[in-house]
Amino acid sequence: MNTTELKQAIIQAKKETDTLVLAHTYQAPEIIDIADITGDSFALSKAAAKMTDKKRVLLCGVRFMADTVKILSPEKEVVLSHKSATCPMAEQIAPERVRAFREENPDVCVCAYINTSTELKAECDVCVTSSTAVKIVSSLPSQKVLFIPDQNLGGYVAKFVPEKEIILWDGCCPTHHSVSVKDVLDAKAKHPGAKIAVHPECRKEVVDLCDFIGSTSEIIDFCKNCEEDVLIATERGVCDKLSRDYPERGFYQLAPNKLVCPNMKMTTLENVYKALLGEFGDVIEIEEELRLKAKRSIDNMLKYGG
Ligand code: SF4
Repeated sequence: MNTTELKQAIIQAKKETDTLVLAHTYQAPEIIDIADITGDSFALSKAAAKMTDKKRVLLCGVRFMADTVKILSPEKEVVLSHKSATCPMAEQIAPERVRAFREENPDVCVCAYINTSTELKAECDVCVTSSTAVKIVSSLPSQKVLFIPDQNLGGYVAKFVPEKEIILWDGCCPTHHSVSVKDVLDAKAKHPGAKIAVHPECRKEVVDLCDFIGSTSEIIDFCKNCEEDVLIATERGVCDKLSRDYPERGFYQLAPNKLVCPNMKMTTLENVYKALLGEFGDVIEIEEELRLKAKRSIDNMLKYGG
């Protein structure tokens, strides 16, 4: 089948199998085209939970995202589009290390970025997204907070919550962490009038050079409303989406060779089609006790302002 035929077959298969297809914004443009809902990971999970008539969900993204959908919608069959699509940052810490830390530091609140495995969420007190991290950490009753796993997002939060002691782990997103100061200066030289929008998963020295710092959806909103051209320092799916939605605007990918997440780009249209037919992907199974422990961290995220 060519691409057009494959897209039509997917639309047909979605109807026949009554499956809701969710795609993270970092997915390839052709995957975005066939999705019912696109957005960041927590927005997708919340959207799936609201669609009570849908009993089957196909998540095009990485494993922790499909897990989060399952944690919030255990009654649904949740399928990850590609079995090998994992987020390296989500699995950078063995849960036993967090458990050991907690035992040694009972007065420290453990705060996990939502980009973590279910096992890690289960060891933590509260989750955050990149757009809610500052608000949630500042609202926590504890004065000491361990922030896992992303040192860059954690450092960004620490800057805005100086009244708390924030302990950082040494994890990071390999894709965002790879952007250097030289990449920013080179891009600025090429597009001198452009504003720069950056994701807080980038290094501090990179973030410090930029005009706007925000989550995926905040960057999209900033770009839509910005009168100047924008250089975008996050995974290239965001720039691809904006360039397609607003072809007359000047949106440029910063560090185009680096800001491509290989795991996010693993899923192909063929994978989606086969996953819809039950011949590909991975059906998410989470043991109930583990699910409830992980859900507690997400519930606390909503309680403290998520
Ligand atoms: S972009 Fe980074 S945080 Fe997002 S899935 Fe890829 S490795 Fe994980």
